[in-house]
Amino acid sequence: MRLVIYVKLYLKKVSSRGQRLRAAVIGGGFAGLIFSLKLLKAGVSVTLYEEHGRVGYPPHCTGIVSERVMQIVGRPAWESAVSSYEGLRLVGGGRSLWVDVKGRIYKLERTRLEELMLEEAFSLGLRFEGRRVTSISREGRVEAGSSSGKFDIVVLAEGYGGSLRKDLSIGFSGAPLRGINAEYSNHLGLKEIQVIFDEKLAPGFFSWLVGAGDVVIAGLASPRPELLGPSLRVLEALFGLRERRRAYGGPVILGPPARELSAGVVHVVGDAGGMNKPLTGGGLYPNSLAAELAVRLYERGVELNEAMSRALEWVASKLRKQYLLSRLLLGSRSMGALVALASMLGWEKALRGVDYDEHEKIPLKALRNLTSLSS
Ligand SMILES: Cc1cc2nc3c(=O)[nH]c(=O)nc-3n(C[C@H](O)[C@H](O)[C@H](O)COP(=O)(O)OP(=O)(O)OC[C@H]3O[C@@H](n4cnc5c(N)ncnc54)[C@H](O)[C@@H]3O)c2cc1C
Repeated sequence: MRLVIYVKLYLKKVSSRGQRLRAAVIGGGFAGLIFSLKLLKAGVSVTLYEEHGRVGYPPHCTGIVSERVMQIVGRPAWESAVSSYEGLRLVGGGRSLWVDVKGRIYKLERTRLEELMLEEAFSLGLRFEGRRVTSISREGRVEAGSSSGKFDIVVLAEGYGGSLRKDLSIGFSGAPLRGINAEYSNHLGLKEIQVIFDEKLAPGFFSWLVGAGDVVIAGLASPRPELLGPSLRVLEALFGLRERRRAYGGPVILGPPARELSAGVVHVVGDAGGMNKPLTGGGLYPNSLAAELAVRLYERGVELNEAMSRALEWVASKLRKQYLLSRLLLGSRSMGALVALASMLGWEKALRGVDYDEHEKIPLKALRNLTSLSS
């Protein structure tokens, strides 16, 4: 009986050609690395193509994630965590409101995270091709300069800036915001995350301060890149930020996820698919979730290509619901006033145990908390 189960499991892990299933992952950013790791752990042979010699460069992300992401990513996440928080403070209209989250929130050192993920992937047998992929086909052919190969699935994690997805008419094609982070010495002794809603600083979005050990990270995003520098200087003056150490940034994608995420055996993930939380642009949670779900389906017997499509569609539909809520809140451009009103009404109690990732559930959770408080 046990032998039959082993044979069935083995057969699931081989392609119709009788070999181990082969995946090509294009892009060694977070999305490419988390899919690589999960596929390798499920016994799939993975070749990762990355045009840069190293992963995690250039840095662009603040690295704020929920405890759920830490658990899905595992050791590389725990080893790259530099701070953790019980919640975050919303600031607006001259007042502030504390949001207490389920579990904790973590600040990761992003370059370190990616390096550790790559290290773990190597230990699981990853093949790394430090070259740029020049073309892909729906059937799984990948060309990178003079070398080419045929794969059972292709995970296209080329980031917002890549262009391979256009040839297959899949993936995200919307316009991102531009985001910037600057690190200063932590003279303030700030130990929390503050999310600042000020329409003059970041119209239709927000700016943030993150106290992490001896640095404070100040950041903001805007559809108008020319406003980032001047707004950063206003933040510096407002909060007395001094001794800037470095600044970095990139596209902040608010979605919604692309309508088409798969074509043939190619599946687009990460920023290239618009797989981001629409309220914050966070990309680490949706892709961790999708990678874990795809592999779980595969391990339960769903064919790998089908498992990828189903997992991506499931996560994308969740993000589409979040998109509606985020448009309602950020699009109203009155978040500052809402924060001030909620603070005056003492609604802090309604924002206890909030799920940092599942934004669409926050209003319901707040209502439930308010109802139980008044009964
Ligand atoms: C200012 C800022 C703050 C952010 N803060 C957070 C945060 O706190 N929490 C969070 O969860 N998210 C955050 N994000 C979002 C997060 O950084 C992104 O969603 C995530 O890094 C995207 O990862 P990715 O792998 O999809 O793309 P990328 O990181 O862009 O990686 C794509 C990779 O593909 C490679 N590539 C592209 N084309 C090819 C090719 N043809 N051949 C080979 N290689 C190729 C590129 O070199 C690159 O390494 C933030 C973003 C910004 C800009």
